[in-house]
Amino acid sequence: MTEDQFETIAIHAGQQPDPATGAVVVPIYATSTYVQEAPGVHKGYEYSRTDNPTRTALQIQLAALEGVGETDDGGCVATSSGLAATAMIGYLLKPGDHIVLPDDAYGGTFRLIAQVLTKHGIEWSASDLTTEGGIRAAVRATTKLIWVETPTNPLLRIIDIALAANVAHEAGAWLVVDNTFATPYLQLPLSLGADMVLHSSTKYLGGHSDTVGGAIVTNDAELHERLRFLQNATGPIPGPFDAYLVLRGVKTLALRMDRHNQNAEVIARFLDDDPRVANVWYPGLPGDPGHEMARRQMTGFGGMISFTPSGGLEAANTIATRTRLFFLAESLGGVESLIELPAGMTHLSVEGTALEVPEDLVRLSVGVEHVDDLLFDLDRALG
Ligand SMILES: *Cc1c(COP(=O)(O)O)cnc(C)c1O
Repeated sequence: MTEDQFETIAIHAGQQPDPATGAVVVPIYATSTYVQEAPGVHKGYEYSRTDNPTRTALQIQLAALEGVGETDDGGCVATSSGLAATAMIGYLLKPGDHIVLPDDAYGGTFRLIAQVLTKHGIEWSASDLTTEGGIRAAVRATTKLIWVETPTNPLLRIIDIALAANVAHEAGAWLVVDNTFATPYLQLPLSLGADMVLHSSTKYLGGHSDTVGGAIVTNDAELHERLRFLQNATGPIPGPFDAYLVLRGVKTLALRMDRHNQNAEVIARFLDDDPRVANVWYPGLPGDPGHEMARRQMTGFGGMISFTPSGGLEAANTIATRTRLFFLAESLGGVESLIELPAGMTHLSVEGTALEVPEDLVRLSVGVEHVDDLLFDLDRALG
């Protein structure tokens, strides 16, 4: 038997035809409880916070895509949002533990750590993690977690996952990689030494901007057991319909990511060559500081691009309101293209901190529309 490839795993892992009816699509098990033959005697399901078959299918699918098969150690816990997954990782820590964050990160992750976990005695600091010196200098005796996003949000910096894993393990800490931007199709952090991979499945995994969800995958049996316990004990689970939406979205992840990559590469080059644009951040551009590292640890550069227009904030605001196809909206990773200004939208919580982003930064989530239409839309909006 050969090992199934990514595209095949996405469609088949955890998704055998329904034993009762032969349905080829995993049903939405809209049930909170399950009948028992005798007290404690059941078919593996007793209450839907603990386990639900639609969610089980999603967890098997996501774990397999991150390289954790059903017979391997570890697995996936799906959550009601990306931040619910982040909070769950927070529950693994205790007062006095220290978290290292990158100095460019999703605003909500920063807010949860800086404004919620700190109330429970957790400490944190943010550093430039794009260099070995930066990672090493950030670690303290109490560091329990190094949190890496790569590519980072919104500046699309690339962090060396294998290096961060080594530094974390030397310090007796875990490395968590937020793999939301890259997805397992482009990057496999566990294979590079990360202990946990976190997803906002709201983005590329779901892929259609129609649900909010999250997940944590680990290849460590003990960590998985602790996360399974926390999933049941704290309860931030996705309902069966949301689990189904992500399960369905992931089936076409490879197809979509190929097109996101292609479209974004064309658009990044267009912006890079345009005098109306001052700076472009995209790891696929040969001149980007993260380009070589991205080539090594990713199989594509993704669909996210950030840029600053030559005309500053005023121009940025104008462009963001003038596009027709790029909707002015938060979030990312859906089939439709989105445009936003992080400083005033997704990253309000980092204002005045080490994570602050340029006020005139424009972030694009490049969708899977025809690239010529997207280029025309941006060209017109640039004025
Ligand atoms: C959106 C996002 C999150 C948070 O996920 P939610 O599903 O919105 O809770 C975390 N990390 C990154 C990189 C994100 O883009």
